[in-house]
This record gives sequence, structure tokens and C-alpha cells, in this order.
Amino acid sequence: MKPAAFDYFKPASVSDALALLAEHPDSCKILAGGQSLVPAMNFRLARPDILIDINDLSELDYIRTSSDRLHIGALTRHAAFHRPVIAAPLGRLLSKVVRHIAHYPIRQRGTFAGSVAHADPASEWCLVATTLGAEMVAHSVRGERLIEASAFFQGTFTTALAADELLAEVRLPLLSEGWRTGFYEFSRRAGDFALGMAVAALKVQAGTICVAHLGVGGVGDRAIRLVALERQLVGQSASIAIVDEIARAARALVEPDGDIHASPEYRRDLIATSVKRALTEALT
Ligand SMILES: Cc1cc2nc3c(=O)[nH]c(=O)nc-3n(C[C@H](O)[C@H](O)[C@H](O)COP(=O)(O)OP(=O)(O)OC[C@H]3O[C@@H](n4cnc5c(N)ncnc54)[C@H](O)[C@@H]3O)c2cc1C
Repeated sequence: MKPAAFDYFKPASVSDALALLAEHPDSCKILAGGQSLVPAMNFRLARPDILIDINDLSELDYIRTSSDRLHIGALTRHAAFHRPVIAAPLGRLLSKVVRHIAHYPIRQRGTFAGSVAHADPASEWCLVATTLGAEMVAHSVRGERLIEASAFFQGTFTTALAADELLAEVRLPLLSEGWRTGFYEFSRRAGDFALGMAVAALKVQAGTICVAHLGVGGVGDRAIRLVALERQLVGQSASIAIVDEIARAARALVEPDGDIHASPEYRRDLIATSVKRALTEALT
């Protein structure tokens, strides 16, 4: 298949890109890694009149830290996370998660921000962003806007980004000392999208969980933060004795649809297992 005809722009600055977005908000698409957009165009599921290729905007290719955040620029490729980008537990978590995203060549081109903007319900980065409470930094000719993950993801392939906005940066909490993390994903083959997955991040002080982040993905139209179970975890002793109870509760909380890949019952089982393994990893 070949895409429908389109005009192609490769701006030399972010301000030029924003001006193009402002001029053609409803008929253009940003091209980042192209690993989701190009297949969609080839199948004519997406038919933008104009592509704005941001690959020359090297000022968007960065990973920086501030006192409490990891700042991920829009052109940061998945492959940048193959090795821990920081020594803190967050670096190890991201380097574990990234190996579940597609295949090596796709990870060389696809971007963290492109995944977040694309908002596939089974995207690993969307799960991480939702669970850790990421902030998205949107730029347009109107200025900068910060969007919390809880407001950003609105459903399958749907976000709070306006048509003239570029997702310029994603900010994750640094998870410095005292944090422990875990991730587990089940997919049919290496590189496939997840049928069920979970992320856990627990802050432990003096043997007690004092902050908990727990989220699941691959069920429903977006990743889900299990806020009720996070509350249940806080105040508990940091031991694997609590893992089975939380996994059973997660199973009851999710309401997956069935499809050709898995029945709702099977997906619930996968979620319970993913939560159990992610929490066990974080607590051992
Ligand atoms: C065979 C295959 C397997 C895959 N498996 C997985 C997987 O297991 N898990 C997973 O998460 N992904 C998977 N992917 C998708 C891959 O991770 C993509 O890289 C990612 O979804 C999109 O990132 P991208 O940079 O390629 O974005 P693009 O394809 O360039 O763009 C995707 C969408 O986001 C928009 N966009 C991109 N960047 C921005 C921005 N900065 N601001 C605003 N809008 C923007 C585009 O306009 C477009 O609508 C797979 C892809 C393939 C081809």
C-alpha cells in the first residue's frame, strides 16, 4: 500500500514548526519516528494533507535532569533508554521497559514523545507516564502548556493535545533514593504489543511503603492507574506478603474487552499475574 498524496515540510526550527502547525491545524500531522504514522498512512487509516517532519530539530533531542524530574525531549528515540539514562531506579526501570517495545530497528527511530502523543492503549511508555504521573509539555504559537498524565490520555489514540500543539517534552519524577520499581509484560511474541502489563514504583522508608504508584496496561482504551490499590499499599510493610492480595484486587478492578487475542477472563488473569510480578520485583 502507498499513502495518499501529501505535502512535506521539514522545518529548521521549532518556531517554524509551530507556525506551520498554526497555519494548518486540522490538515497536518507531525512526523517524528514515523513508526506508527507511516504504517497508518500506508493503510490509509491516516490521510494528512501535510506532514511536518521534526527530525531536523536537534534542540528537541535531549534527556536532562532537574532537581526532581527527568526531562525527555520530543526527539529522544526509544533506543536512548537501552542503558539506564540515570543511576536512580527510574533509569533501570526505563531500560527494562524499553526492551518490550517493538524490535531493535523500530526502537532506533520511534520516539518516547511520539508514543505518548500516539496514545496506543498498549504502549509501554503511556503506561509508565500514566503510572508515574508524568507531565506533558505542549508548545504552540500561543505558548507553553503543562498537561498532567491523568488529563492527557483521553482514550484510544486520543489525547488532550490541541491540533496546533507539539508535544515538546515529557517529564517524569526522578524516583531518587528509597524508590523500588518493577515491571512485567505479557505479549505473544517478543516485540508484540502487550496483552497485559504492570508497572510498580514504591517508596520505602524504614521498611514501610510510604508512596505507591501502580498501573496496568493492555486492557481498556488507555493505561490505568490503580489508585485504590496504591492507597492500600501505603503504610504496609515492604514485604511480598501483600502481593497476592493486591494482585487479586487488581484482577477484580479491571474490565477488559475480549478480542481475537484474548478473552476478558484471560486478560484479567494476565493483569493479576503482571501486578504480582511487578510488585514482587519491586519488593525483593
Ligand atoms: C511492528 C511494530 C511493532 C510495534 N510495537 C510496539 C510496542 O510493542 N509498544 C509500543 O509502545 N509501540 C510499538 N510500536 C510503535 C512504536 O513504538 C512507535 O515508535 C510509536 O508508537 C510512535 O513513535 P514515533 O516517534 O514513531 O511517532 P510517529 O509514528 O512519527 O507519530 C505517531 C503519532 O504521534 C504524532 N506525534 C509524534 N510526535 C509528536 C509530537 N512531538 N507532538 C505531537 N504529536 C506527535 C504524529 O503526528 C502521529 O499522529 C510498534 C511499531 C511497529 C511498526
